[in-house]
Amino acid sequence: MAEVMINASAVTRDFSISRGMFRGKQRLQAVNGVDLTVTRGEVLALVGESGCGKTTLAKILLGLLPQTSGSISLCGTPIGSVPRLDLSRMIQPIFQDPYSSLNPRKSIGSIIGLPMRVQGIEDQQTILRRVEETMELVGLPPRLLNAYPNQLSGGQRQRVAIARALVNRPQIVVCDEPTSALDVSVQSQILNLLNDLRTELNLTYIIISHNLAVVEHIASRVAVMYLGRIVEQAETTAMFRNPQHPYTRALLDSVLTPDPRLGVPNTQLGASYPNPIDPPSGCAFHPRCANAMPHCAQTAPGGTAHNDAYVECHLYSDAGVAKAG
Ligand code: SF4
Repeated sequence: MAEVMINASAVTRDFSISRGMFRGKQRLQAVNGVDLTVTRGEVLALVGESGCGKTTLAKILLGLLPQTSGSISLCGTPIGSVPRLDLSRMIQPIFQDPYSSLNPRKSIGSIIGLPMRVQGIEDQQTILRRVEETMELVGLPPRLLNAYPNQLSGGQRQRVAIARALVNRPQIVVCDEPTSALDVSVQSQILNLLNDLRTELNLTYIIISHNLAVVEHIASRVAVMYLGRIVEQAETTAMFRNPQHPYTRALLDSVLTPDPRLGVPNTQLGASYPNPIDPPSGCAFHPRCANAMPHCAQTAPGGTAHNDAYVECHLYSDAGVAKAG
C-alpha cells in the first residue's frame, strides 16, 4: 500500500478582518473543511483562482500558519507535535519568484548551504560537499558556487532556489507557481528538472498553479479549490479528459493569459469571483454556475464519488439529479 505522506482532515483557517475603526471585525474563512491525502511520489496540483485558499492551505502544510480547526499529519506524525527544525527537514517550499527569494548579498554556495547551518551543521567541509552535490543534481555548474544571484539567469536562480529547498533532502516539496516568473523557454526545463528530481530523490510534490498547461504536464492528481473548499479532485488525465464540476469545466475552457505573470486565467464566468468575507449561500459557486438549480442557492452540496472523481455538486447527488430532471 502506498505510504501516506500528507493526511489533512476537515482543515479550516479563519482570519479576522477589520472593517474599519468603529465597525469591529469580520471573519474570513480562507480554508473551509479541506480533506486531503497525498501518498509518496504523488504530484498533487492545487488549482483555482486567486483567493481560493490554495496558498493558505500550502502555508498550513508547511507549518507557516496554524489551522483554525481540523487535523494534519505529515509522514504519519501530527504536524503540531513536530518541532520546527524537524518539520523543515520533512517539507520545504519553492517560491514563485527566484528574484526576490534569494539574498542578493550572499554567494550561491552560502544561499544553498544556509538550511544546513540552520539545522546546526557546522562542519564547513560537510556543508560544501552537500552543496556541491546538490548543485550538480539541479544542473548548476560548480563555477557558480561563489557567484551572486545578480550574475545568474532567471532559470539558474530558480535552480538555486530548488537546490536550497533540497539540500537537507526533505520528503515533501511545496512548489508555489514554480515557473510563472520565468521565460516560457525556460519553464519546461524547470518542470522537467522537478520531474527528474522527484524520481531520483523519491519526492512528493504539492504544486500550486493557475497554469493548467503546467498542471497537465507535471501533476498526477488535481484538486480544484473554490472559496476555500476542494470542489473536485481526480487523477490528472481523468480530470482533463472528463471534468465533472461546472467550475472545473469553466477553468478548463478558460483562455489562459498569454503572459503567465498576469496570473488569473480568464474563466469566462460572467459574475466576478465572490468576496470571501461574504460568501454566497448554498453552493458558493451558484452565482456563476451555468448549471445552477433553484436549490443550489439554499443548500451546500456534499461530496460524491462520480466517474473516478470526488466532486461537490448537486448535479451528482440524488436530489440534484431528481430536480435537474
Ligand atoms: Fe452549479 Fe449547483 Fe453544482 Fe453548485 S451545486 S456547481 S450551483 S449545479
